[in-house]
Amino acid sequence: MGQEPTFPTDLARRAAEAVDEARVRELAQGLVRIRSVFDAEQGTNETAAAEYVAEQLRALGLDPVLEEVAPGRPNVICDWTGTGFDPARHRTLMFEGHTDVVTEGDPTKWRVPPFEGRIEGDVLHGRGSADMKAGVAASIAALEAVMRVAPDLAGRIRLGIVVDEEGMMLGIKHFIERGWADEVSGAIVAEPEENEICLFQKGAMRVHVRVTGVMSHGAMPYAGVNPVRGLADFVVALREFEKREQERLGEHEYLGLPWITPTVTRAPATGEAQLNVMPEMAYVALDIRTVPGQSHDDIEAELRAIAARLEAGTDRLSFDIEVFESRPWTETAPDNPLVRAVEAVYPAVLGGPPRYGGVPGATDGTFLWAWRDIPIVTIGPGDREIPHQVDEFVRLPDTVDSARLYAAAAVTYLSSDNE
Ligand SMILES: [Zn+2]
Repeated sequence: MGQEPTFPTDLARRAAEAVDEARVRELAQGLVRIRSVFDAEQGTNETAAAEYVAEQLRALGLDPVLEEVAPGRPNVICDWTGTGFDPARHRTLMFEGHTDVVTEGDPTKWRVPPFEGRIEGDVLHGRGSADMKAGVAASIAALEAVMRVAPDLAGRIRLGIVVDEEGMMLGIKHFIERGWADEVSGAIVAEPEENEICLFQKGAMRVHVRVTGVMSHGAMPYAGVNPVRGLADFVVALREFEKREQERLGEHEYLGLPWITPTVTRAPATGEAQLNVMPEMAYVALDIRTVPGQSHDDIEAELRAIAARLEAGTDRLSFDIEVFESRPWTETAPDNPLVRAVEAVYPAVLGGPPRYGGVPGATDGTFLWAWRDIPIVTIGPGDREIPHQVDEFVRLPDTVDSARLYAAAAVTYLSSDNE
């Protein structure tokens, strides 16, 4: 018979065992039943989901703070402090999640109605089940477990359940700007990563490119300058730039290759198109995904250099490049104490050696890492590719595993002094 993996401490074992399975199920289902899609036109937002989270925390005797980031869009922030906590010496662990979900699209395409919260066997169905209401449920259940078994813990848990992760990440940015991240020593980001330990997240840049030429009649193209050709030349040059970067960096073990992807093209950039009119302006949007070893400043400089070369070759053609969002890649040191704590409890909770992965997109954790140097571990229940798809689902046993892992990792991480 093989040896059963054991917990590093008895407290870690008790924290994992204190997670209430029925509670995880109830929380995840309760959250999925709230349609927290942000849609300014339809007037839907995260309010009800945030209120639901706050109610659960109040029932535990805690005092959650709701901070409106935008009208109808409140972050929920809640601290629990062990009686042994000394802010000068001890750590604060953040459990991070988001209340917003992406739209369900056409609900008739779903086998199970997207906000019914139906549970079939071990599976919870619905929009947001994996991304990331199960993760939020696991975080709350983990906090409850820690409160039960370790009231005298020498540490603090800060729950940050924020809005707008699927948009411009206004929630986490607001959380950081308001100073809530300042005391955080480490964060567990509960995104759906198949319960793999993710220490790397891909970066992203979002870019508007506007190419201006000179409008003219299609019968006399020589009388103007065609921005469509300028745009095409730019896109071809990007393909070469992408190839150079891919060859220079190779395939990252957890993040794969970097990509430069034109996603939207429009000519004319605005207004009605007409076949016999060469437009004044063309537009292309770029979705750039980056990996460790790349610098967003260098990438922007290269985009501008490509544009400058094309401008030099043609009369009266100009490029306007606007990087309107920059989310750097992240890399948490493998010897960080939070990583060590997660690894130490992993085998006993998951029944095998730690599995590792990488996050294919940016998360709220990106800003905690980039703006405040907070070590982040992204790990949570749900298949990595299921978010945003029709028939999204999450397995409840995986969600319980996540809750156990969070609880056991928390007491392990918070049982030692901040170094
Ligand atoms: Zn998410």
